[in-house]
Amino acid sequence: MDKSYLEKWDKEYFWHPFTQMKIYREEENVIVERGEGVYVYDIHGNRYLDGVSSLWCNVHGHNHPKLNQALIDQVNRIAHFTTLGASNVPAVVFAKNLIDIAPPKLRKVFYSEDGAEAMEIAIKIAYHYWHNKGEFQRNKFVTLSEAYHGDTIGSVSVGGINIFHEKYRPLLFDVYKMPSPYLEAVKKAGREKALEYDTTKLLIEEVEEFIFKNHQEIAGFVLEGGVQGAAGILPFPKGYLKEIRRICDEYNILMIVDEVATGFGRSGYMFACEKEGIEPDIMALGKGITGGYLPLAATLVTDEIFNEFLGEFGEAKHFYHGHTYTGNPLACSVAIANLEVFEEEQTLKKLQPKIKLLEERLKEFWDLKHVGDVRQYGFMAGIELVRDRKSMEPFPYGERTGFKVAGEMLKRGIWVRPLGDVMVIMPPLVITEDQLNYFLDSLKESIKAVTEV
Ligand code: PMP
Repeated sequence: MDKSYLEKWDKEYFWHPFTQMKIYREEENVIVERGEGVYVYDIHGNRYLDGVSSLWCNVHGHNHPKLNQALIDQVNRIAHFTTLGASNVPAVVFAKNLIDIAPPKLRKVFYSEDGAEAMEIAIKIAYHYWHNKGEFQRNKFVTLSEAYHGDTIGSVSVGGINIFHEKYRPLLFDVYKMPSPYLEAVKKAGREKALEYDTTKLLIEEVEEFIFKNHQEIAGFVLEGGVQGAAGILPFPKGYLKEIRRICDEYNILMIVDEVATGFGRSGYMFACEKEGIEPDIMALGKGITGGYLPLAATLVTDEIFNEFLGEFGEAKHFYHGHTYTGNPLACSVAIANLEVFEEEQTLKKLQPKIKLLEERLKEFWDLKHVGDVRQYGFMAGIELVRDRKSMEPFPYGERTGFKVAGEMLKRGIWVRPLGDVMVIMPPLVITEDQLNYFLDSLKESIKAVTEV
């Protein structure tokens, strides 16, 4: 059957996210029709390995029988019912299941649909919490350069990626910005020692000094869980999160950790907070929460925070926030099944050797002339391509070197989406060692084909 009408309609009617549509409309694009495990199939029947887990969210593979069944079972009961002043069965059960596996301090779940919303909610809760306590001067957030927390105005306000965020500056609220831990660590200690604990100490002094001077007006410290993902997979030096926890405790500041990207196994643990040995006051989750099936996100908070919102109706202390689909039963039923699959398939246990394999094989990328840096955090990695390794001079932005490498990968049957000139390796957690080896071999060849001509 001729399906070329889909390509025409895609270009005619569909405005794609984070996409220069002029170029998109000039190029051939993948229109996916179905998926199976780590593979997706386009409308022409071509098969591609999903190299970035459909934007970092797929966990157990596409078209998973158990997740499918959970969705089918639920849709036969009810697809949606509001949770504003009422409830539904899967949303209740999943809230309990999530609290059972989350850091123990976190006791309440506030649902939303996407990572950006989960962060928007985290920020509003933190601000509102201090107001309910009568500490009206606590209006500011401390954030990090190169942070990414999503694309809504509040999430952009606490973000720090200039190319995405600078355009909106007049619309954003003011925040205090600390340096990006990885980039600052490289500056202060060099690439080899960037991730060491001693480097953390060098970074923390500055942060602590700043907090010491300004803590009375700070509502929360916002940061990603262990790695700045969208900035190009920039891991925090060892102990950085622990030190931030210590400072937040000392100065009575809420620690808000964004685990939208790192949650649900990506760090090698269920949550990066576990890996880092910390408990935040507020944690945002999304992406892998439904195994990559449906839009669902969650903001988890402590009882201490939740209790500040309790009061008589007339006191108007409650949290004025909610979306039409908050706690959607279809999404929550798949989220319940997602956690069950983690158990049944021993996903985290089976992931460990693959993290090791990735670590070993990443070393090979240093052999390539135009690789400037190689970074890994759990089961995510970034390979930074530069024109000159010594000076770290980048390729010109307009050359789209990363996209060209992605084009080469496509020829080899792998779909990836780079972050600028950082090639991202983030396949579903269920990828096999053979598939991972093929992915890495292809990436090496593709980088060579584009940069060493
Ligand atoms: N926070 C982090 C750490 C992310 O990586 C992302 C998405 N890449 C988001 C928030 C935003 O999530 P969403 O795209 O679901 O809004």
